Amino acid sequence: MMRDLAERIILTIEQAGGEAYIVGGAVRDLLLGRDPGDIDLATSLFPEEVSRLFENVIPTGIDHGTVTVVLEHHPFEVTTFRSESTYTDRRRPDTVSLGVSLEEDLMRRDFTINAMALKRDRLVDLFGGQDDLQRKLVRTVGDPYERFSEDALRMLRAFRFMSQLGFALESDTERAIVRLKESIDHVAMERIAIEMEKLMVGEGRIDALTALRRTGINEELAGLTDDVLLRLIDCKYAAKTKHEVWALFVHSGFEVSELRRWKRSNAQVLRAKKLAPLLDKESLSASERYALTDEELAALNEMTGRSHPSRDELPIRHRRELAVDGKDMKALGLMKEEIKEALAYVEEGVLHSRLKNERDILLKEVLLWKERRKN
Ligand code: ATP
Ligand code: MG
Repeated sequence: MMRDLAERIILTIEQAGGEAYIVGGAVRDLLLGRDPGDIDLATSLFPEEVSRLFENVIPTGIDHGTVTVVLEHHPFEVTTFRSESTYTDRRRPDTVSLGVSLEEDLMRRDFTINAMALKRDRLVDLFGGQDDLQRKLVRTVGDPYERFSEDALRMLRAFRFMSQLGFALESDTERAIVRLKESIDHVAMERIAIEMEKLMVGEGRIDALTALRRTGINEELAGLTDDVLLRLIDCKYAAKTKHEVWALFVHSGFEVSELRRWKRSNAQVLRAKKLAPLLDKESLSASERYALTDEELAALNEMTGRSHPSRDELPIRHRRELAVDGKDMKALGLMKEEIKEALAYVEEGVLHSRLKNERDILLKEVLLWKERRKN
């Protein structure tokens, strides 16, 4: 279906005198019989020319030669064949040249399995990508020292693809990482974190983490000590989505303060802090379940394979379900701090089924509580 739409874009471009191919990860996934998340195309036409050929086109990256063509609600990134010249900062190419050949476009890509092009029944495979797919190997296009020197992020991408595909690391490629690992500090932590999230949810994460440890590149990544990495490798829990990854890190001894250095959002940090200490608990108390959202509890079950009872079985699920509120406390003559404490007190009682969630009962209980406090 998606493939058919992509082939339609290729035909339209050909009818306008251009050339176009499916490229990158989509070719890899199609050859593996996996569902490619999205399909990217490369073309000889310039973005303005592509834009003229289709009704719904979004200029998503004109500077890099990319427009997004939307066909039957499916977005396709269509990028003009391009090459990238010297990476003096080991992060970004100094210049991007559009309008080169398909061969040059494929040459700039990171790994052989990601450097093939496909249209109809024609596969362009200049670097042995098919062989490497068959042998299940992650190998750079060309000299690994050069390719990792151009862009250090590729070293982490290698482990990420190992994990996602269950592949091994080709030995020269691994040796180059060992030699160039220090250069990973040129890469923004944000981008490193994103690769790590993808690695951690992959089927082959144990092997990928083990290879990563073997190269020692983790020592260049703040907070990812050998000890943390070993615990991650041995961890019996798994993250199903990227939102769960950081809880596993914290559970394995990764410092919460390092999460901020890795540019994780407040929401991600809070979630990791909240879930990590609960992972090893065989059962959760009523207050522990109450403190979680339904979604967090579901994540905990998913990661551990346990089946903690649903929050629906708690006497109350939110403070707003309590039969009394702040106004009631005020009416009883309580002041600011007292109000908070009194509500927390009855909330606790209700949650543990010591008190029935009924207004009269709770009001009476608050009065008793106030009396007791006076003495
Ligand atoms: P995913 O399924 O995660 O999207 P992908 O292979 O599509 O995997 P992307 O990061 O989306 O990976 O990149 C798309 C393609 O662009 C890659 O397959 C590769 O050919 C090329 N590419 C991406 N990043 C780099 C890089 N840092 N260096 C060289 N080529 C790259
Ligand atoms: Mg992609």
